[in-house]
Amino acid sequence: MLEIGLTGGIGSGKTRVADMFAAHGAALIDTDLLAHEITAPGGLAIAPLVAAFGPRCLRVDGAMDRDAMRALVFSDPTAKARLEAITHPLIRQLTETRAAAIRAGGQHPYLIYVVPLLVESGTWRTRVGRVLVVDCLEATQVARVMARNGFTREQVQAIMDRQATRAARLAVADDVIDNDGPPEALAPQVERLDALYRLLSQTPDSAA
Ligand code: ADP
Repeated sequence: MLEIGLTGGIGSGKTRVADMFAAHGAALIDTDLLAHEITAPGGLAIAPLVAAFGPRCLRVDGAMDRDAMRALVFSDPTAKARLEAITHPLIRQLTETRAAAIRAGGQHPYLIYVVPLLVESGTWRTRVGRVLVVDCLEATQVARVMARNGFTREQVQAIMDRQATRAARLAVADDVIDNDGPPEALAPQVERLDALYRLLSQTPDSAA
């Protein structure tokens, strides 16, 4: 089965594009959703987080307090590494468990991992057969995230400054979806790649 890593900067349209592939029958694993799942009340990361950071890292409902952790990571340079040492292996393990179930189920023509930081994280590129980048102008990203999240231009820019550049992402892309146009412009691009991925998935050499 062909396994594809879908990435793109914040606000580029990853979620929208991934949902369109799912409508074509693709299996999806969204690593951001897994990160939320393990830090939700009763999630796999909760007990190790409390052991490492104390009860201050939790909200009253038992979920990880994202605002508190963001502030801690900002003020304490070692906290980010300690947090990631807990969450990253759990996300990786859960990703593998889900992928194994999808492969065994045989219900989907191919599998797409949605990985916001695929280019930044290094190991991902070797784990997938193909990299698909959702691309748009930085000005488009800024406008979309300001509208979606109610962030200021400076807040969006600060997030983008911590992500790979557009050029770095395009440099590792096997396939690119241009999402600077209206939503209607996505459908034919998704359709064309869906046909390609179905074809490649049946060609053993091309599958990861
Ligand atoms: P990402 O998952 O990459 O952060 P999203 O798929 O959430 O990006 O898209 C960011 C925002 O922009 C969302 O509110 C989405 O509905 C909107 N959006 C995405 N693509 C388009 C488009 N082509 N035209 C207009 N709005 C779009």
